[in-house]
Amino acid sequence: MAKNLILWLVIAVVLMSVFQSFGPGDSSGRSIDYTTFVKEVGNSQVQEATFNNREIKVMKRDGTRYVTYMPVFQDPKLLDDLINQNVIVKGTPPEEQSLLESIFISWFPMILLIGVWIFFMRQMQGGGGKGAMSFGKSKAKMMTEEQIKTTFDDVAGCDEAKEDVKELVDYLREPSRFQKLGGKIPTGVLLVGPPGTGKTLIAKAIAGEAKVPFFSISGSDFVEMFVGVGASRVRDMFEQAKKSSPCIIFIDEIDAVGRQRGAGVGGGNDEREQTLNQMLVEMDGFEGNEGIIVIAATNRPDVLDAALLRPGRFDRQVVVGLPDIRGREQILQVHMRKVPLGAGVEPSLIARGTPGFSGADLANLVNEAALFAARGNKRVVSMVEFELAKDKIMMGAERKSMVMSEETKESTAYHEAGHAIVGRLVPEHDPVYKVSIIPRGRALGVTMYLPEQDRISMNRQHLESMISSLYGGRLAEELIYGVDKVSTGASNDIERATDIARKMVTQWGFSDALGPLLYAEDQGDPFSGHGGSHQPKHVSPETLQLIDAEIRTIIDRNYARARQILEDNMDIMHAMKDALMKFETIDAGQIDDLMDRKADIREPQGWGDNNPQPQAKTEAPVEKEETESKAEEKVEETKEQPTSTDETKNDSESSEK
Ligand code: ADP
Ligand code: ZN
Repeated sequence: MAKNLILWLVIAVVLMSVFQSFGPGDSSGRSIDYTTFVKEVGNSQVQEATFNNREIKVMKRDGTRYVTYMPVFQDPKLLDDLINQNVIVKGTPPEEQSLLESIFISWFPMILLIGVWIFFMRQMQGGGGKGAMSFGKSKAKMMTEEQIKTTFDDVAGCDEAKEDVKELVDYLREPSRFQKLGGKIPTGVLLVGPPGTGKTLIAKAIAGEAKVPFFSISGSDFVEMFVGVGASRVRDMFEQAKKSSPCIIFIDEIDAVGRQRGAGVGGGNDEREQTLNQMLVEMDGFEGNEGIIVIAATNRPDVLDAALLRPGRFDRQVVVGLPDIRGREQILQVHMRKVPLGAGVEPSLIARGTPGFSGADLANLVNEAALFAARGNKRVVSMVEFELAKDKIMMGAERKSMVMSEETKESTAYHEAGHAIVGRLVPEHDPVYKVSIIPRGRALGVTMYLPEQDRISMNRQHLESMISSLYGGRLAEELIYGVDKVSTGASNDIERATDIARKMVTQWGFSDALGPLLYAEDQGDPFSGHGGSHQPKHVSPETLQLIDAEIRTIIDRNYARARQILEDNMDIMHAMKDALMKFETIDAGQIDDLMDRKADIREPQGWGDNNPQPQAKTEAPVEKEETESKAEEKVEETKEQPTSTDETKNDSESSEK
């Protein structure tokens, strides 16, 4: 800041001095019009006139001085008059600029421009105090061994990955022991996995365990407008790291620099190539004996340049996948250590309901739960809050403020009941665990399924059951209100059912008529040059027709099955609608009672959000759309219902307002 001030001051002073030298040197008195001057000459009042171009400095006989300016035209008569009146006429030497001055004048705008440019570049770099020329400096953040508090205890649910990187810790602690035996330790490790699975965390934990400094930078930090800047940043970063070796360099999103050279969208990018080349050079250069281990993270190992993956560079890949059910439980436990827990919090149950969650999602879930508890002025975080947080993350925040008309509510209740009843009665379907008609996000209602184990693969029966239950919603509306009154709310259901059926026929070989052949290509990767097309070129028009017919058969079959189920269980459907209108959210136990045709169903468990909503009449023709639970999207399965612990009864202060 002080530096900037000084800079501007200098510029101001220079400017002023320049304009000074242009201005009238010594202003000798006031200026007077030309006519008066000529008259005064006629009256012999003028003693002396000094000419400087059109400026005339005048000294009168009484000693007063003034300046006047000749009009644009020359006045040939004037000189005669002056001489006749015995005025002393003086001239000035032709204007002569000093060399310095002329250089300055011609270069000044240029210098000013360059100055402004540098100033803005520095602003853009965001780096104060680094000096004007810090383009080439790496932006790596360094953490010393004292600053790193992360250990392997903080990383949960990825035991294989931890096992894989443990030897790096031993090496960093005692490089000499390995070198004596001539062992070669990898200089580069590539952590591969979806975002939020803990790649950064693992890298940091390695540094924390080995007690070595940790440099972290993102691949995109290298990328700049100017060719060569990235490369010099790489060089600078390795130089810094060498000074504090043994240490770890962590490069997040390495694909930003490490994409295959000369391929894909954007064509050749000189800057990126140079950066990548520099990285390769550096990694080859330090021969493993300088104790620097480069750990890079990416979720797209397929787009990386092959040269990066060669032996001696990132030759070791460690996969950090999404956690499985046990992993999620452990991750939840790690994060729950930081919050005061109420009695009856079961991480295993939460883990079961969160398939597809990454470590970061789970950390977020614990945090959201804590926020819910804080909002409710509670001293501990209990299961209610975890359920609320889970629902919020999975399905979006509740939109309690949205007023649904009684009719919309009722049709939503029938729609969701249709999903739930079919879901309960078809074989191999994930158990229906919660049904709600509280609007969330863009959905008016939700039916949730709770898998017990993460599903690795799906069988045909399960898929067909999913199609059936997806049509359950639309069918329920149709059976109650008639075909003409079916709402648009099922569009998402239809889309998903069709998608499953199409994949069954074209990708998974579940069609007898077409056999186990691949009829669709995967969507290609737009970045690696080959874009994807859904229809392969080598399929005949007849086959395409057959594909459509087969998809149609599967859907018709399941549509009919769902219809039959609902027709046979109309009484349950009405009862479930009533329950939904009353409670807005019903849980697994209540659904059990409804399915058993019990006369009065139990009270809700209190994990859900059972606050009746203020009811008002209004016509809000909102599109009824379904966000199905993430659980279902990942297609997971379970064989039994969630165990119902009968602790908290109807905890209705649980929700936000
Ligand atoms: P990535 O680098 O893979 O995108 P991060 O390491 O940045 O993910 O993870 C973000 C946050 O998520 C971490 O700070 C941590 O709180 C949480 N997290 C992710 N994975 C795990 C895990 N396996 N164990 C514990 N916490 C995790
Ligand atoms: Zn639906």
